[in-house]
Amino acid sequence: MIPTRAQPASPTAEQLWAAPMTSRPQITKQFESVSCDICGSSANEKVYDYEVRGVLISICRCLLCSCVYLNPRPRQSMLGEFYGNAYYSFSFDDSKLAPPVGFKDRLRLTVLRRHLGYDVIDPSLTVNAPWFVTAALRTSVAVPTFKSGGYLLDVGCGAGEKLMEFRSLGWKVRGIELSLAAAQAGAQRGIDIDVGPLDRVPYPENQFSAMTFYHSLEHLPSPTTALRAAYRLLEPGGQLLVVVPNFNSLERKIFGKNWGWMQVPIHFYHFTRPVLARAVLSAGFSLHSLGYSFSGQSIGGLAEGLLRPASIAVRRVAGPFGMLCALLGTGKALVAKARKPVDPRLPSRDIRES
Ligand SMILES: [Zn+2]
Repeated sequence: MIPTRAQPASPTAEQLWAAPMTSRPQITKQFESVSCDICGSSANEKVYDYEVRGVLISICRCLLCSCVYLNPRPRQSMLGEFYGNAYYSFSFDDSKLAPPVGFKDRLRLTVLRRHLGYDVIDPSLTVNAPWFVTAALRTSVAVPTFKSGGYLLDVGCGAGEKLMEFRSLGWKVRGIELSLAAAQAGAQRGIDIDVGPLDRVPYPENQFSAMTFYHSLEHLPSPTTALRAAYRLLEPGGQLLVVVPNFNSLERKIFGKNWGWMQVPIHFYHFTRPVLARAVLSAGFSLHSLGYSFSGQSIGGLAEGLLRPASIAVRRVAGPFGMLCALLGTGKALVAKARKPVDPRLPSRDIRES
């Protein structure tokens, strides 16, 4: 008897949902269906639907662990088309290197100097805020504690704007980025940027004192793989810092599927506090804080394209609104600060238990 050859798995009805017939061939060519990266389950419920290039794609919530993710999503080989060369972080914005002038900038520098070890900061750039105020903001400021002689790797660094600042603050810096054009833009400013996925570049283990993911983890095909790679590359006691949009933020609840940081289809994951905590802890880290950032352009972008008076009004409201949301525990971005244990045999610390 001739054995029956196993047929390649075809997409299930659940994977194709109610997509129109005409879009189905593109699902296999441009998009791939995936399971939850956090727990591996493929059971999910739809949260929002979008149409991208004539294909129905959804943001789903895992029924097992509540991770919110894009499904189906662009295949890795197609990502260049979806980002395009004009993606904002692929070019260098020199205006961001200007000296801080606003109150928020100075408040941030005050936190860095008082609480995170950046003695190099000129006291004249700080503000005279009460100590308890700046101490409370420590978890919201997305900067690792300074380590003299430390080596910092920024993952998904774009053209290296953040690294320019860290270098001026005393770190030895390096970046890693998928875009060759972005890496070249950074190289022109003297920043070393490697091109490729984090788990493919052969860095030595225990190499870095700090690793940062600024709005990059949500872009990666597997955040858990990236966090495990970060764990290997960090020295014992090394710091992990992750900043991602907060899917449970008030802004997302107000703007729904049109929120500025949904960024379909290049944001693959939409983190909430418990899901980000689980991802960090599962990789072996001790989680020290999980705060809310109040910087970023999530709704400030609404001002683009408006008439000048309306644009100014939106930008003026966006800053204080973002700060208020952060103070109320519903901020637009999550800031996780974690460390690789000095002794990996000790159980990981979970701040939610303290
Ligand atoms: Zn899950």
